[in-house]
Amino acid sequence: MHFELTPDQKDLQDQIHRFAQAEIAPKAEELDRKGEFPVELFQRVGEMGVMSIPFAQELGGMGLGVFESVLAIEALARADQSIAVSTMVSMATGLTVARFGSKEQKQQWLPDIVAGRKICAIAGTEPDAGSDTGGFTTQATQLGNGQWSLSGEKAYITNAGTPISLFTLILAISSPKDAERKKFSLFLTPNDARGYTRGKGYNKMGWRSSDTRQLYLDDCQLGEDSVVGELHGGRHLLHKGYQAARIWLAACSLGLAQASLDHALTYAKERQAFGGPLGKLQLVQQMIAQMALKVDTARLLTYRAAWQIDQGIDDMGALSMAKLGATEIGTEVANLAVQVSGGWGFMDDCPASRYLRDNRICTIGDGSSQIQTMLIARACGLDVDFT
Ligand SMILES: Cc1cc2nc3c(=O)[nH]c(=O)nc-3n(C[C@H](O)[C@H](O)[C@H](O)COP(=O)(O)OP(=O)(O)OC[C@H]3O[C@@H](n4cnc5c(N)ncnc54)[C@H](O)[C@@H]3O)c2cc1C
Repeated sequence: MHFELTPDQKDLQDQIHRFAQAEIAPKAEELDRKGEFPVELFQRVGEMGVMSIPFAQELGGMGLGVFESVLAIEALARADQSIAVSTMVSMATGLTVARFGSKEQKQQWLPDIVAGRKICAIAGTEPDAGSDTGGFTTQATQLGNGQWSLSGEKAYITNAGTPISLFTLILAISSPKDAERKKFSLFLTPNDARGYTRGKGYNKMGWRSSDTRQLYLDDCQLGEDSVVGELHGGRHLLHKGYQAARIWLAACSLGLAQASLDHALTYAKERQAFGGPLGKLQLVQQMIAQMALKVDTARLLTYRAAWQIDQGIDDMGALSMAKLGATEIGTEVANLAVQVSGGWGFMDDCPASRYLRDNRICTIGDGSSQIQTMLIARACGLDVDFT
């Protein structure tokens, strides 16, 4: 068992870390305040090659593994979790097209995504159903000419409404309305498709510079070739896409947890109290030691799950442990960083307060902590009922 990165992995990690600390971290507070998606910065991330890491070389990618992309997302999130999440959602969506899309779909839609010039989204959640993916109601109806007409609403969707959004993969019921069992398909919906509109961005607690909107489909007509993967196999593909995204969401929380520890350590060394630095006080040392332990736990869980994915080991329990463990730890460590920062920790301009706000969604989105807990119990061999 090796715990060391290879020289190439270390180089990649260093390169992205240096870039993120120089070009992203200094802007994170302002981006959070403005709440606008930073197009140029995202494209700089693309120029650094981050988006391309896990894509095959014939698609313009680097052909590296999930593990390398986890190192990159962690480094981005250590600078700003919002840009890391925008990147990883586009990565997971693009990879869904790369894995399951037709040759034509890949040729037409992936080059700009892999290069990070454009961004894409995946839409499952609806106003009345999130974790319960079987409860989605957006309906796709096949017309006489083979085309599809989509109608319905999606809620809380990342990346769909930026100036560089290219397409959204939309999950919709593709079986007839009166069918006994609902079947779903995944539709590649270009941003300029007629009948597809995006609502105003939400006012959010965190991830303020990442784009999140409600989507509306009103007789949105799409070609026969808009179905990604097997017709009626969309729910399975959405779950695969969500599963893939879980490891990167874990990496987002890991990077943020590391940033929280970095911040608390610096503050504990610089802040003077009771005749010396805060860090000389034993109970502050205890908080820092707890943070270090938790960050390491998140890192080990996340790296193991990423490594397993690259080895082709299908271990849902380990993936869920990484997602549950790292995202919960992100919130715990950010909260401790607020505590170490004292009154300043409660102010908007303290990075720790942003870390706490940003990470709060990570235990809810992409399979909440409760859903991950049930998956772990199932992996332990228990009969888990999701209904
Ligand atoms: C900023 C942001 C970005 C997002 N981006 C996207 C995106 O890009 N694409 C997308 O499709 N969605 C996205 N989402 C939606 C997100 O994935 C959902 O909010 C999440 O899946 C939870 O669904 P819900 O909000 O409907 O909550 P619900 O499913 O209603 O859950 C409410 C609570 O009940 C718990 N719960 C639910 N079912 C069970 C169960 N069976 N057993 C025990 N507890 C349960 C949950 O854990 C949660 O605590 C985003 C959300 C936010 C806030």
